[in-house]
Amino acid sequence: MPVASRTNVTCPNCRNAYPAIVEMAIDAQQDPESKIKLLSGRLNIVRCPYCGASVTVAAPLVYHDSQKEMLITFVPMELGMSKDQQEKVTGDLIRELTSRLPPGWMKGYVFQPRSALTLQGLIEQVLQADGVTPQMMEEQRQRARLLEQFLSTSPEQLPALVQQHDAQIDGTFLQTMGLYAQRAAEDGQQEAAQQIMLVQQAILQLSTYGKQVLAEVAAQEQVVKAVEEDVRALGEQPTRQDFMKLVLGYASDDMRLQALVGLVRGAFDERFFQELTMITGQAPSEARPMMEALTERLQALIAMVDEEARAELDQAVATLQALIQSPDPDSFIRENVGLFDEAFMAVLSANLRSAEEKGDQQAQQALMAIYQRVVEAMQAEMPAEVRFINALISSPSPEAAEQLLRDTPDAQHPSLLQALDQIAGNMDERGNPQVAAHVRAVRAIAMRVIGG
Ligand SMILES: [Zn+2]
Repeated sequence: MPVASRTNVTCPNCRNAYPAIVEMAIDAQQDPESKIKLLSGRLNIVRCPYCGASVTVAAPLVYHDSQKEMLITFVPMELGMSKDQQEKVTGDLIRELTSRLPPGWMKGYVFQPRSALTLQGLIEQVLQADGVTPQMMEEQRQRARLLEQFLSTSPEQLPALVQQHDAQIDGTFLQTMGLYAQRAAEDGQQEAAQQIMLVQQAILQLSTYGKQVLAEVAAQEQVVKAVEEDVRALGEQPTRQDFMKLVLGYASDDMRLQALVGLVRGAFDERFFQELTMITGQAPSEARPMMEALTERLQALIAMVDEEARAELDQAVATLQALIQSPDPDSFIRENVGLFDEAFMAVLSANLRSAEEKGDQQAQQALMAIYQRVVEAMQAEMPAEVRFINALISSPSPEAAEQLLRDTPDAQHPSLLQALDQIAGNMDERGNPQVAAHVRAVRAIAMRVIGG
């Protein structure tokens, strides 16, 4: 547990006062999460419960890392403390920190803490001790500055700006953008997060590095499509031999192998590998090293796919538990929208089914309430057009769909027809001809309303 204290904050935006917990002492070994918060500039940032504004609470801070024999104190200037007061408050915090260490542990450095003049200075000392060089920090600062520039420029001027800084746009830069977007979303600034992602998309399309990435992604998609075709060509009930032939054909094409394992993980069971071992044994000796390498590669790919699935599931289970225990589930959902993915929905449905089977009505109701909350939140997250299209497609009758179209003049736009075409096409591709036909019927209604 970090050393923390309760304080009252007055919101600079709406002037309401509210209580907040601030952390004033961090032990790098015992509070690794607090250390991460500190380094990412998120320590002691609280959100006003009245208006949502984020405030950094100024508080004294002591940072301790016993492995690196590092003790740093920082007292913000704006607290207006005298030298004596500063020493008293940091002395108390140091005592609090060291009292948690084993007896007889005390070392000399504890009596000579370094002090930092600014929080940034403290962060830099910690980073340097972690092996982050001043040059790396400077590069990161440049990235942040460039990012600010991109975000504040107009869409018309963006291409020229990208061209000018093309050499600086690389994987790390785009990752940094992703992190900024994530941080904004976590701080409840959905619009800012969306804006960053839009600019990121534009930079991807405009920059040399981005074009390369997009080309690679497109190539991968091509391969996945080709492999999907090959699998479909095996017919309704492909046998182990069918998959064996496919695998042997892909032996020298790692991208195809990866795609295949991702698509049909279930085909690679124990029996499959037994047969592969047998075939390897019967192969001419010069072909064996290749077959053995293929077996090893397949196993590694399978381990990767399984590991990913497990991690997704673990996270989904943890999310559901956190949500069940949350005193304020709605804001938990709002702040963690990214966690509610397919894996989460699968875990939630499985829990619902098991509660149903056990006849545990209380659990069933609680899970159902969570389900509804999450679905509502997901829908609220969607752009207005998407919500409208969803409502349109799920209209109970053609008359209701027509009414909805007439009641929503903004939605009567040619792009609606295109969107419906696309959805129908997607449904065909996914093998849902009934849904596709329904969407086309809705499209015909929309065409009539918009045309007339
Ligand atoms: Zn406020």
